[in-house]
Amino acid sequence: MTSAPAPRENVGRIPAYVPGKPPAPRPGLTTYKLSSNENPYPPLPGVVEAASRVVAEMNRYPDMGAVALYDALAARFGVGVGNLATATGSVALIYQLLQAFCDPGDEVVYAWRSFEAYPIAVTAAAATSVQVPVTVTGEHDLDAMAAAITDRTKVAIVCTPNNPTGPSVTHAALLDFLAKVPPHVLVVVDEAYVEFVRMDDPVDGLALQRQLPNVVVTRTFSKAYGLANLRVGYAVAEEPVAAALRAVSLPFGVSGVAQAAAVASLAAESELLERVDALVAERTRVRDGLTSIGWAIPEAQGNFVWFPLGERTLDFAAACQEVGVTVRPFAGDGARVSIGETEANDRILEVAKGFLG
Ligand SMILES: *Cc1c(COP(=O)(O)O)cnc(C)c1O
Repeated sequence: MTSAPAPRENVGRIPAYVPGKPPAPRPGLTTYKLSSNENPYPPLPGVVEAASRVVAEMNRYPDMGAVALYDALAARFGVGVGNLATATGSVALIYQLLQAFCDPGDEVVYAWRSFEAYPIAVTAAAATSVQVPVTVTGEHDLDAMAAAITDRTKVAIVCTPNNPTGPSVTHAALLDFLAKVPPHVLVVVDEAYVEFVRMDDPVDGLALQRQLPNVVVTRTFSKAYGLANLRVGYAVAEEPVAAALRAVSLPFGVSGVAQAAAVASLAAESELLERVDALVAERTRVRDGLTSIGWAIPEAQGNFVWFPLGERTLDFAAACQEVGVTVRPFAGDGARVSIGETEANDRILEVAKGFLG
């Protein structure tokens, strides 16, 4: 008998989530946060008003069924309400999915480096991570991922565009991968940055989902829609899969404020997507500026760029901090820099000149 209550063994192995740091104040200098892939635009007035109306009802529980949000999503994406699950960010949906589908020791295949929440969620579910290295250009190696699938695999995750390296897979490549995946494996297509993708043959996750019952698409209001603080994401899946996601969700998880803001954001989508266009234009300017001076920056399909700095990563992050900008370093590997305000992006371009070669 041990003398104190002990969590399950896997809990001790859960890696820490490293949040993007806010910038330290610099007297006389405007500082910028490019460390969390946030949307730099302030919320639209109409969205703030819709959310504020619900703030005034904070003594009441939210609508547990999030009916208005499910209806709005179903109408917007042409899917059935039964194909949807919403949660407190798409991170929560990934946790729920692993909780609902994995027994202890089941394998979850995903690319690495990729979204840092994956190993956390997999370990929290007592499942086993099978990490398949991305290519030197930061792309998913879908052949190697297909080869890594075994009888123990329950879930495979494709992060497209890949956070933090930037490239997206093509629709054809994903379809080819899916053809090799056995039907007992659930494939999560994490489309957190789908609104930022500008490429030939982009993934149509919803079409794949309609075609293949083992595909789940996850998306979020945190990035393109600028609601990161309110925590709301959604999944589109085959009805039994969506039902499993809802079954394991926390009751009343998505707040009424978040529901109202998400519904208002869908109604204001064209205005929000104009902002996405502007961020995409900035992304192109930043990446072109970097490649023109000799940087090898992977294809950038999200709202961020990846600097493959290796051992110089922390020095680069410190140099950015010196000019009042925080970025997200992954020590020994590279730095992810979100596309933000023009002035912030300019400062990054300046710092990057000193880190060539
Ligand atoms: C930001 C992000 C998410 C979702 O974030 P939430 O705020 O939890 O919705 C999911 N996947 C990836 C790859 C992300 O970068």
